[in-house]
Amino acid sequence: MGEPFLLTPGPLTTAYSVKQAMLRDWGSWDNDFRAMTAQLRTQLLALIGDDKGAFDCVPIQGSGTFVVEAMLASFLPRQSKTLVLVNGAYGNRIAETLRYLGRNHVVMDKGDYLPPRGREVAEALANDAEISHVVVVHCETSSGILNPVEEISKVVYQAGRKLLIDSMSAFGALPADVKTVRYEAIVASANKCIEGVPGFGFVIGRKSELELAKGCSHSLSLDVHAQWAHMNKTGQWRFTPPTHVVAAFMEALRLHKAEGGVAGRGRRYIENRDCLVQGMREIGFETLLKEPWLSPIIVTFFNPADAAFDFQTFYDAMKRRGFIIYPGKLTVVDSFRVGCIGHMDAAIMRDVVEAARSVLAEIGVKDARPPEAALLERSKLAA
Ligand SMILES: *Cc1c(COP(=O)(O)O)cnc(C)c1O
Repeated sequence: MGEPFLLTPGPLTTAYSVKQAMLRDWGSWDNDFRAMTAQLRTQLLALIGDDKGAFDCVPIQGSGTFVVEAMLASFLPRQSKTLVLVNGAYGNRIAETLRYLGRNHVVMDKGDYLPPRGREVAEALANDAEISHVVVVHCETSSGILNPVEEISKVVYQAGRKLLIDSMSAFGALPADVKTVRYEAIVASANKCIEGVPGFGFVIGRKSELELAKGCSHSLSLDVHAQWAHMNKTGQWRFTPPTHVVAAFMEALRLHKAEGGVAGRGRRYIENRDCLVQGMREIGFETLLKEPWLSPIIVTFFNPADAAFDFQTFYDAMKRRGFIIYPGKLTVVDSFRVGCIGHMDAAIMRDVVEAARSVLAEIGVKDARPPEAALLERSKLAA
C-alpha cells in the first residue's frame, strides 16, 4: 500500500503532479520565478470576483498563523479596538495574537461550536462605539462549523466598522466573493483548499487598506505593506521565498481551475462530506453539527459511548487501513474529526466509512452511538 490518505485540515493529500512540481530548483531573483509570483497573485485575486481592481494579493512566508498575525498587525491600526468572534481554537488564537501585539480588543466567546450570529454582533457594536474592527473565522476548523460570514459582514458595515476574515480552511472551496460579502482583508494558506503543500500563506486586502497599513506592523518579516510594496516594485519576495512550495502551488492552482474553480472544488468537498456523513451515520456515529452549520471542510463525530472504544486504538487501526484521521478539539465531550478536503473523492470517502466499520468490528465496538451527554450538548445548537 502507498502512503496513507490525510483526512486532516492541512497539510493534506496532494496530487502527484503537485509533488512532482517540486523536483526542480528555482532562483528566487530569476525572471522565471518572478513571473510565477506574479501569476500566483493574479490567479488568487481572480478567486474573489473583484471586478473593480480594488484588492491586491500579498503572499507571506510561513504557515497560516504567520499570515493571520501579519494581517492583524498590518490591518488593525495601533489605536484600533477589535471585536474577536470566537467559537474554537482558531478564534482563540486570534485573540491571543492580539494580546501579543498589545492591540486593544474584546472577545465574544460562543464556546466550542455555537455560531456568532449577526444580531448579537450588531448588539455588541451598538454597545461599544470604540470598536473599529471585527475579526471572524470563516470555517472554524476546530469543530468544522461554517460561520455565517455574510450575515456578520452585513451588520459590521451597517454599523460602520471593518471586517477581517481568517478563511484559512475555506478559501478556494467556499465563496468569498467581494460582491456578496464585504471585507477589508482575507487570509488563507497554500496547504488547505487549494491543495498545495505548506510553506506560505497570502493576504488579499483592499488596496486602500494596504496603503493605510504602512508603518502599522510591529514586525519586520510580517509587515504586509512592506512585502506588498517590495513585490510591486521588484516582483520579488522580500526574504527567501519557499520556491518549491510556490512551484507546487502553481500546479495546484492549475488543477483548481481545471476542476471548475471555487464552485467545482466546493462541489467535490460537499460530495465528500455527504458521502462520509451518510455512511458514518449508517454505522451509528453522530455528527456534532447539523446542517446548515456542517461545513464541507472537516466533520466532528462524537466518540461512541461503547466502553470498547478508545480513540488511539481506533486511530491506529484506521491508519493501518490507509487513513489518517484527526483528534477532536471539543472541551466538553470526546470527539474525533475527519477532513473532507484534499486530493480525494467520494469513492475514497466510501472506503473511509468501510474502514471505520471494519475497525469497530475488530476492536469490539458493537454500537457507535455517542453518550447521552453528547446528544444533550448538541441540543443546545438551535438552527
Ligand atoms: C489551519 C488554520 C490556521 C493556520 O494554522 P497553521 O497551523 O499555522 O497553518 C488558521 N486558521 C484556521 C481557521 C485554520 O484552519
